[in-house]
Amino acid sequence: MSHKAISGFNLAGMEFKTIIEPFKIHSVAAIRMTTESERVQLIKDVGYNLFSLHSDDVLIDLLTDSGTGAMSRNQWAAIQRGDESYAGSPSWLHFKAAVQNLFPFEHIIPTHQGRAAEKILFTAIGGPGKIIPSNTHFDTTRANIEYSKAEAVDLVIAQGRDPSDTYPFKGNMDLVELESFINATGVENIPVVMMTITNNSGGGQPVSLENLRAVSAICKKYKIPFFLDACRFAENAWFIRERESGQSERDVVDIVREIASLADGMTMSAKKDPLGNIGGWLALNDNGLATICRNLLILTEGFPTYGGLAGRDLEALAVGLTEAVSHDYLKYRIQSTAYLGNALLELGIPVVQPIGGHAVYIDAKAFLSHIPPLEYPGQALAVALYEVGGIRGCEIGTVMFGRKPDGSEVPAAMELVRLAIPRRTYTQSHIDYVIEVCSEVANRASTLGGFKIISEPASLRHFTSEFARI
Ligand SMILES: *Cc1c(COP(=O)(O)O)cnc(C)c1O
Repeated sequence: MSHKAISGFNLAGMEFKTIIEPFKIHSVAAIRMTTESERVQLIKDVGYNLFSLHSDDVLIDLLTDSGTGAMSRNQWAAIQRGDESYAGSPSWLHFKAAVQNLFPFEHIIPTHQGRAAEKILFTAIGGPGKIIPSNTHFDTTRANIEYSKAEAVDLVIAQGRDPSDTYPFKGNMDLVELESFINATGVENIPVVMMTITNNSGGGQPVSLENLRAVSAICKKYKIPFFLDACRFAENAWFIRERESGQSERDVVDIVREIASLADGMTMSAKKDPLGNIGGWLALNDNGLATICRNLLILTEGFPTYGGLAGRDLEALAVGLTEAVSHDYLKYRIQSTAYLGNALLELGIPVVQPIGGHAVYIDAKAFLSHIPPLEYPGQALAVALYEVGGIRGCEIGTVMFGRKPDGSEVPAAMELVRLAIPRRTYTQSHIDYVIEVCSEVANRASTLGGFKIISEPASLRHFTSEFARI
């Protein structure tokens, strides 16, 4: 089987269709091979919930790209330099310099993950009566805003809600809606405007530099702070370089610094683009707010020069941040995700378009149109991918979003299965195998049936529910 990449690698003037991973493998983790009949039993034994599988029973794990990437040998070497001093460690200074090289904010506050940065920020500025707009809040961001009793509002452009629209910057904020939202809500009730780059919950879709500049200008006009949820800043900057007019000659570092210059602060998960297995930070310019946030940090995360991290983690992230903005790496990263998405499209499998930066989203509603939403077509597809090929994806549909607080069950807007690509972890031949498995599942599509839930927790049911075949 051979598949065409969207545009090949241009080496020495020749276009080759094979994507060369811009690294060689330094350390390996064995994959335990399993057969289809074993997997049919394994998934049945855990009530058809993919979160309950042992990862050793998974061949290709596309559950998430969060913290699942491979570190480089330079990162592993940096880990040996980790200095575990409680206060003022040189590892902290390396980390802080690497963050400020890209995001020159005054105050850098290290946390163990992105959600810890969110919890601190919204404890400080959220609360009853406050409303916080974003293009689309990520689920932990929304949960932390709501936990503070504030409200979270999504104002992504209309194209961002249509899976088949091919607009190049589907993560953009609707500027007209943002201004009318500000006027209707009142500046005093809006402590911050957020932008998620790339827009994870909207399919990993990028935000244009033009849109970021415009949102920043609106925030300045109304004197509202503007914060980035910048987990995939490097992928977003690469999309800007590739797709936005006038940007194709710029260095990604330069684009990232301009994005930072438009904002007043950021929250970050270092488990995404910074190529770490753990980590995060909160960064901002406001001195008073930084003091409040550091005091909250000390309560739950740790002293301000390590936050929730070991010195060795800080060293690994300092190196990861330099690798994350490499053009060779980003070209490979975006092209290899598109390689999977485009191959599925060629097979006639419906996927969210354009292909995002970190994942391919299969539209299970269109793919398994004979399965009604309340029989969970996304779950049916995710189980089939596991049984047929040992691939673990993630249902993002009615199982995840269908249960309402009042106890009713309502079909989700979309029934998706996300195949998230861990960074620097799988090769093109692993992905070719994923494509073959998807093709086989497509052959069997009409024979796949739906599921019912036989046990379900009070909230966040997708993590622990048990299912049975109908
Ligand atoms: C992962 C993620 C977060 C939360 O970060 P964690 O490190 O998982 O706590 C926040 N926002 C976005 C966009 C994310 O992708």
